[in-house]
Amino acid sequence: MASSMRVVCPGCDEEFLVSPQFERMKIPAKCPFCEKEFSIEQAKKVVRPSPILLVK
Ligand SMILES: [Zn+2]
Repeated sequence: MASSMRVVCPGCDEEFLVSPQFERMKIPAKCPFCEKEFSIEQAKKVVRPSPILLVK
């Protein structure tokens, strides 16, 4: 089942969805708001949908 990750653009702080494939295959994500391209590791924030919740 394909579920998307939410990333926050480091350029404009907008949040959008990317396929987890982007991270796996190291494809740069392109922000639909400011058109900045950045790798997932450069994202300001990444929210991965995970069935396992890590509790601190
Ligand atoms: Zn942006």
